[in-house]
Amino acid sequence: MTIPALELNDGNSIPQLGYGVFKVPADETERAVSQALEIGYRHIDTAAIYGNEEGVGAAIASSGIARDELFITTKLWNDRHHDEEPRAAIAESLTKLGLEKVDLYLVHWPTPAKDDYVHAFAKLVELREAGLTRSIGVSNFLVPHLERVVDETGVVPAVNQIELHPAYQQRDVVAWSDEHGIRTEAWGPLGQGKYDLFGTPAVADAAAAHGVTPAQAVLRWHLQKGIIVFPKSVRAERLRENLDVFGFTLTDAEVAAIDALDPLDGSGRVGSHPDEVN
Ligand code: NAD
Repeated sequence: MTIPALELNDGNSIPQLGYGVFKVPADETERAVSQALEIGYRHIDTAAIYGNEEGVGAAIASSGIARDELFITTKLWNDRHHDEEPRAAIAESLTKLGLEKVDLYLVHWPTPAKDDYVHAFAKLVELREAGLTRSIGVSNFLVPHLERVVDETGVVPAVNQIELHPAYQQRDVVAWSDEHGIRTEAWGPLGQGKYDLFGTPAVADAAAAHGVTPAQAVLRWHLQKGIIVFPKSVRAERLRENLDVFGFTLTDAEVAAIDALDPLDGSGRVGSHPDEVN
């Protein structure tokens, strides 16, 4: 199974599909990540706040997979934006992960009420220069937040990781990012299972037409739009299913029908609004 790679604006590349470990309990993470690596995943998305970086590190260490075949992302938590805290925070994450550097380090939320995300991102630029992360980016940033970091630091983040699924597409953020060379990563790519996305005709019909599951149809929709995904599951059969999305192509009409799902009745964000997380 070859997972396509996308080039980032700093010249590095990222596997377009990975495995996210939000809400995987710390004591199950080593097993879950080992299982994912065995199945063929090479890109792991974690965060300091998930409390499971040690499990990710243990799975990496016992995998025997060469470091340069893996793509590991972790994130700076909201209470560590100030002063030199980002450097201390990445040092702690690297110790837990058992790595000398990560592939991607993100400012997890902009926390705009504290007005410290520009400083935090400027510190990430230094961490990249110090060799502690190969690429840097942001998460949950809206257009005004992106504009400020680019204007005030002169550095364009490599990625912005945002809530994105057929019922919540954040088209304004994606369009701005596309114009400025920022890759979009989707968190909650399956909508976290919070409403019946899989039962909508657009998704169900596309899945039936290609003989795949609704989850595979949704993941394929993301991939064809150039979005990076890392769906979460701890079940081996779902991990295999979520990786097996490179053998079919949705038609333009199928993509357009899924595009039209935003807004679904009663849908929208499944997570918090970035202005409200501080
Ligand atoms: P997701 O959309 O990947 O949904 C995960 C849920 O979908 C699982 O609990 C599982 O029940 C279900 N699922 C998975 N595969 C399935 C399949 N094949 N068929 C049916 N159901 C299936 O949501 P997520 O885990 O929140 O997002 C993915 C990753 O994004 C996270 O693990 C994490 O790494 C990242 N994330 C980042 C942020 C952020 O603020 N940056 C927030 C949330 C998540």
